[in-house]
Amino acid sequence: MKAMTNKDVIQYNLAEALAGATCPVCRCIAEATRRFLDNLMYEFVNDNQTRDRLRATKGFCREHAWTLQKMGDPLGHSILYADLVDSFRQHLEKKGLIGKHKSAAFLAGKEEHCLACREEREMERRYIFGLLRALNNGEFREAYRSSAGLCLPHYQLAERQATDGDLRATLREVQIDRMAKLSAELKEFIRKSDFRNVGEPPGEERDAWIRAVGLWVGSPHLEKEQRTAFHKKSKPV
Ligand SMILES: [Zn+2]
Ligand SMILES: [Zn+2]
Repeated sequence: MKAMTNKDVIQYNLAEALAGATCPVCRCIAEATRRFLDNLMYEFVNDNQTRDRLRATKGFCREHAWTLQKMGDPLGHSILYADLVDSFRQHLEKKGLIGKHKSAAFLAGKEEHCLACREEREMERRYIFGLLRALNNGEFREAYRSSAGLCLPHYQLAERQATDGDLRATLREVQIDRMAKLSAELKEFIRKSDFRNVGEPPGEERDAWIRAVGLWVGSPHLEKEQRTAFHKKSKPV
């Protein structure tokens, strides 16, 4: 069998992610980030250069640090944080115990330096580009029509980059439809919360409030279903 090119892999992962309940681009990026962190930690324990890079960038941003922590690896974490804690301690010792020098500079610009953030931005660029390309394919476009649609940040990126009017119309149409459905579910939740309707059993609207957060800011990095079902299927880019 012919090996898949990067382009095919992106399209394959997106097509798989269309079946999920959340933004397909978020799902693919979360999976790519998980794999990136996995590899980075593996290299980190074995390779001095990676260790230097992580030391120089002062570890990860808050979101990625906790994503990585949830992935486990107590030994990798112990090595990484022993390095980081020591470097901060040395930084403070250099300042000395006397004097009024501020030490805030140690973490200045950390968000921009996070290696996983950088990787994620690149993946986002590739997946948005891949989505727009895949939407030219009739079968994919149909599957997209019945997908969860995009989160707001990814919708805006995709719409901005779509050069074709037809493509923009498809993106907009699907998005309007999904948002109308979500809004109706949120209102149904509010209606059922009224004391006059408390006896009514909950329906699909029960987790609409969580999906609304995901629509607005994008999905969290490690979703429960992703940890099990999704990452087995997706292919590395
Ligand atoms: Zn998204
Ligand atoms: Zn980060």
